[in-house]
Amino acid sequence: MEVPMCTRCGKRPANYYRESSGEKLCLGCLFRSIEDTVLWTIRRYRLINDGDRVGIAISGGKDSLTLMYLLGKFRRQGKIPRSVEFIAFSINEGHPYSCFYRMSRGDYVQKLSEEFNIPYKIYTFKELFGVTATDIAHELWSRGINIHMCTIDGVLRRRAMNIIGRQLGLTKIATGHNLDDEAQTVLLNVFSNDLDRFSWFGPTPEVDREGFIPRIKPLRFVREEEIAIYAYYHGIPLMELECPFVYNNPRYELKFTLARWERDNPNIKHSLVSFGDSLGKIMAERAVNVSLRRCKYCGEPTSKDVCRVCELMSRAGLLERYLSHLRTLKLIDTQSPS
Ligand SMILES: [Zn+2]
Ligand SMILES: [Zn+2]
Repeated sequence: MEVPMCTRCGKRPANYYRESSGEKLCLGCLFRSIEDTVLWTIRRYRLINDGDRVGIAISGGKDSLTLMYLLGKFRRQGKIPRSVEFIAFSINEGHPYSCFYRMSRGDYVQKLSEEFNIPYKIYTFKELFGVTATDIAHELWSRGINIHMCTIDGVLRRRAMNIIGRQLGLTKIATGHNLDDEAQTVLLNVFSNDLDRFSWFGPTPEVDREGFIPRIKPLRFVREEEIAIYAYYHGIPLMELECPFVYNNPRYELKFTLARWERDNPNIKHSLVSFGDSLGKIMAERAVNVSLRRCKYCGEPTSKDVCRVCELMSRAGLLERYLSHLRTLKLIDTQSPS
């Protein structure tokens, strides 16, 4: 049987069939196309500009490691202005299977940090909030309130990024979200009938609202599978274990559902993300008119009276402990306005 040749270069045998475009690619052309897509995303949506100080959120998974690798490589090649500062950081949630502990490739991040001159810092929920994710989960669960560990992690991690961003003086925070993550987010927003959440969805940095550090997702147009192949061949460690909490996370099921749908419609992930982006644009314009308030407990920006972190802490009976931690850190006044 004759081996098909790469449809891009025509010189080397193809190793990868990209169903969404019908291309058959050799590894060299696949890697170049992935890098081009990421660079195109950064330039087209002006994600990283001269003078930016960009945080890179490292979960330890292949996506965030690939992101750090690519950003470092692009800056060294001058494809991203050399004046741009990168600072990588990880957040340790503090449960036994903490995403950080489990997938941490501390030595590899250190290697990238040295290779590309990107400082790397580790933060913990404990130092930021005075409690760990496990503390909160146990208190909630013992009160019969069933909130998923991933939800607790998510709420706290989003806040942590803002705190870290302000501490480090970051202008943006880059995360490793890929096309699959983004397609899942669109569906999850639809399934939970949450139109408002689309105002946060899109390719451009979130509207620069006071107190929020804009997030950017340079990998959002690259399929997870292609990132995995890229990572594998570039010596970037792939995660071996799944987080034990993931199995009843709605995203986990969606992964398989999307894969099934994709067989009939190879472009479904791109379609979902484009749809989400169009809707996001409309919703973001609307959201500009919604004035942000300050949480009456911690003073962080929120659309309601009480922010999601304080709501969670309060339901867990940990609000006082949390607020006194913030006072010790001098993040709120001793005379708290509550
Ligand atoms: Zn080729
Ligand atoms: Zn609050």
